[in-house]
Amino acid sequence: MASEEGSAERSLVLATRNPHKLLEVQRLLEPAGITVQPLPEEVQLPPEDGTTFADNALPKALTAAGATGQPSIADDSGIEAAALSGAPGVRSARYAGPDASDEENLGKFEGEVPADSRLRYVCALAYVNPLTGEERVFFGDCRGRMARARAGTNGFGYDPVFVPDATGDNRTMSELTDAEKDAISHRGHAVRALLRWIRL
Ligand code: IMP
Repeated sequence: MASEEGSAERSLVLATRNPHKLLEVQRLLEPAGITVQPLPEEVQLPPEDGTTFADNALPKALTAAGATGQPSIADDSGIEAAALSGAPGVRSARYAGPDASDEENLGKFEGEVPADSRLRYVCALAYVNPLTGEERVFFGDCRGRMARARAGTNGFGYDPVFVPDATGDNRTMSELTDAEKDAISHRGHAVRALLRWIRL
């Protein structure tokens, strides 16, 4: 780690139950030589009741680090719609109700957000090393607009209606390849910020 004179982490536990996030973070970290381990089944994650993405990410990373004794990371992320004054934000996973599916959340969102209005994905990525006591939170965002209609089958969550600015075309996040999403996504930016710090 940064404080261990260049001995970069080789393995991190990712505190999530979301298989899409696990895949994306593995895709982003493994080419850099860092193995991403899933959270052991028996570890219970804390409730996501914070008011900011960082407030939710850090307790998840602390829980994973405490339970496994290994350096751990956790992502808390979501979408902010200008037309909804920044909602659903930290409530993105539960927008249509406490146990809502991605499909239910997306349906509610589509019914409320006008085409072409501004959107932003946000990611807070917390890192906790139980061996050194280090705690850090890294951020990434991705700006875009609401699609006129759903398109594409890749990705998850709100991707079928999110048209990122960075590609300069009209494709939704769900129409991008994995590599294209990783290059511009909120999670991609946050993970690269972590990597820059690890390599300090
Ligand atoms: P949480 O971080 O577990 O609170 O969940 C974040 C929620 O935000 C997900 O369930 C998705 O609905 C949404 N979200 C976060 N990142 C993405 C993404 O990359 N694509 C689509 N939806 C996302």
